[in-house]
Amino acid sequence: MADLTIVSPMRGWAAPLDEVDDPVFAGRMLGDGVAVDPTGPELRAPCDAEVLSIHHAGHAVSLRAANGAEILMHLGLETVALGGKGFQRHIRDGDEVKQGDLLLTVDLDQVAALAKSLITPIVVTNGEDFAVVSRQVGRRVEIGDPLMVIRGGEGAQAREEAEAPAVVRTVKVPLAHGLHARPSALVAAEAKRHRADVTLAAGGRSANAKSPVAIMALGLGYDAEVEIAARGPEAQAAVAALADLIAHRLPPEPLSAEPVAKPEPKDTSPPKAGRLAGTPAAPGLAIGRAHRLIPAEIPVNEVSQGAETETLALAAALDALRSRLAGQATGPREQREIVQAHLAFLDDEDLIGAANQAIAAGQSAGAAWRGTVRGLIEIVRAIADPRIAQRADDLADLERQVLAELSGEMEPKQVLPAGAVIVADELGPGQLMGLEGDLAGICTAGGGPTSHVAILAAALGVPAVVALGRSILSVPDGAGLIVDGDSGEVRVAPDASEIEAAQTRLAERQVRLAKSRAEAAEPCRTADGVRMEVFANLGSEADAKAAMANGAEGCGLLRTEFLFLERNRAPDEDEQWRAYQTIADTLAGAPLIIRTLDIGGDKPAPFLDLPVEENPAMGLRGVRVSLWRPDLLDVQLRAILRVRPEGQCRILVPMVTSLAELKAVKDRVEAARRETGHDGSIEVGVMVETPAAAVTADLLAAEADFLSIGTNDLTQYGLAMDRGNPQMASGVDALHPAVLRLIAATTHGASSHGKLTAVCGGLAADAAGAAILIGLGVRELSAPPASIPEIKARVRALTVPGCEALAAKALDCSSAAEVRALVRASEPGG
Ligand code: PEP
Ligand code: MG
Repeated sequence: MADLTIVSPMRGWAAPLDEVDDPVFAGRMLGDGVAVDPTGPELRAPCDAEVLSIHHAGHAVSLRAANGAEILMHLGLETVALGGKGFQRHIRDGDEVKQGDLLLTVDLDQVAALAKSLITPIVVTNGEDFAVVSRQVGRRVEIGDPLMVIRGGEGAQAREEAEAPAVVRTVKVPLAHGLHARPSALVAAEAKRHRADVTLAAGGRSANAKSPVAIMALGLGYDAEVEIAARGPEAQAAVAALADLIAHRLPPEPLSAEPVAKPEPKDTSPPKAGRLAGTPAAPGLAIGRAHRLIPAEIPVNEVSQGAETETLALAAALDALRSRLAGQATGPREQREIVQAHLAFLDDEDLIGAANQAIAAGQSAGAAWRGTVRGLIEIVRAIADPRIAQRADDLADLERQVLAELSGEMEPKQVLPAGAVIVADELGPGQLMGLEGDLAGICTAGGGPTSHVAILAAALGVPAVVALGRSILSVPDGAGLIVDGDSGEVRVAPDASEIEAAQTRLAERQVRLAKSRAEAAEPCRTADGVRMEVFANLGSEADAKAAMANGAEGCGLLRTEFLFLERNRAPDEDEQWRAYQTIADTLAGAPLIIRTLDIGGDKPAPFLDLPVEENPAMGLRGVRVSLWRPDLLDVQLRAILRVRPEGQCRILVPMVTSLAELKAVKDRVEAARRETGHDGSIEVGVMVETPAAAVTADLLAAEADFLSIGTNDLTQYGLAMDRGNPQMASGVDALHPAVLRLIAATTHGASSHGKLTAVCGGLAADAAGAAILIGLGVRELSAPPASIPEIKARVRALTVPGCEALAAKALDCSSAAEVRALVRASEPGG
């Protein structure tokens, strides 16, 4: 027999029976079902049915549906005692009614004043033959919205199915940044497609899988195990779809591979000599005037006008904001994705349910929304993973926008004057998207470099510095500001000469960029004629094309992870070979250095069942994975060795910490060479990314054909600071003298065996990097394609003896800031 959908007979809030304050209903003594807390006066037929009876007191109606299911709707609790007061009937016993026909009208105010509660249980009373197999609760319902599904005919079987243990599956979160706002919204959208009650559970807590905020508040970081459980007619399908989505189909986050900025240490004291230091969040230089965006608290009417009025007011405010946000889902991809996540928050069953419950408990819409969202903000801020904790800003943004809609005092659209630099405590993405006019830069007291505002600013090309401390808030409107989104420095009220200097810097930057682009294809030598190879870091064929267009002389690092991400199985030899050959062809014979798979740590691979580790960054990653799964390594080596012409490719081994690892890989290269009939030898280099490799560089160089320093990881491991943790962002600087000494040890070790040292980490592209690296003996730089013209231009302006003198001084500095100051002072006009 077909399932029967029972729709809501009233407008109101749908809740589980457990929330009915009556043991008879809550204990299912009269049958299973749901309850509606009504906000409208009409009770209408929830399906086509015959009216079995209307209680003489007019407060309860029994119906029999065409399939025989008997449904009792009991208006309010202890309403029998009203003796019919407040209820007006529109039907008689024995009437045939169609779904939606009016059955009763209720005077809600009168009944509410006299009865214990208005909550209306709707239950199936012949439960021996019928079972409720799914229900939609915890949300606002209009008359006619689906409420529950009843399955019957084979009552025992239907009940068994409904009571069957949940379908359960456990998966791991493969996203480097965890299930934060945008992925949570995608997971909830998938869960909503299924007729099933679905929960996600981790760390002893569980969340409604149809609620993006509840999912986000679980704080599921990379590699977290999450249990998906579902009950209901589509439980199997729901669990399968969610497991597949979470494990394989969520859009990957960009790997934190090329840090775009190296911040100065933070200075949170009041502006000294007009200078503040924060964390760079979006690159570039801006000169402008402070435009303070320090919004007043939005007034909230604390007195409730009655639950119905307040529920409607909140619903109307949410609707108004939904349409406003929909109009902002334009512009760069990042902006569209952020708006979609905010829209999902506004449809969140748990969030809106909790606010409506607070309204039902006597709060005004504004107080209920503010209290609910602030409670959630506290939970999200307390999540240990800062990348998820930073999403609290999005909730604060939505709190404000809904309150503004409710108060009717919509913040007038801010039209910015020319050259405005926003100064704010925290800035929400909604506030940023709501701005019109000429936005030059952004300075915030709080915030983090991975927040949605930072992502948006970078996408819009607006330089931004965050985490400047509260002293930025004392900067008056109209004060001049110079915002350096590369260094994280902000100059407050610069004098005419400083402004002129910054303008000159900006203008020079434009000229320099144009000139360096024009000369990008020329080979690169220092001013005193020493050859420097400038290669590109690649992660795809598109990158290879960009590298050629930008004058790269080869590829110093092909991150092969791009072939392995988002996969259920590793790519086979042919697929890998085709990808490598295409890139080799694009490089038109120029050297191609292919790094073997560098997976693990912050680089997830769903197809690899890596063991759960307490501390994955220190565990199975890089070459350790390759030696743990040599079958994968062998396939990759054979694919590399098949690339033609022979001699174009070199092999680079990541995360090496011992000579034994290098020897083990070289043995496998030899075996693969024999198998593939590769005639000549192939160079094998070592990535120096750990202090261990740096201080034993002489031992490694005796066996390796070249060394290539990965300054991103060398900095992370050398300074014991997580490169992806925004709270460490101001300290993770490869120019720290400790890291420079490790680089010096590496070049020294390599040159003792006549081997070349390259740098392929972020320091190669850092404005202050080239001079120091050349001075330390590095002779090859490899960097993102777009940065190549500038790197070449920088190198052409340097001399080796000048760089050596500078590097010697840098090794004696006591901080990265000191090294940066030293480099600045050495530059023309510095
Ligand atoms: C590095 O660590 O500097 C490096 C180049 O490797 P990745 O950024 O891919 O870890
Ligand atoms: Mg690395």
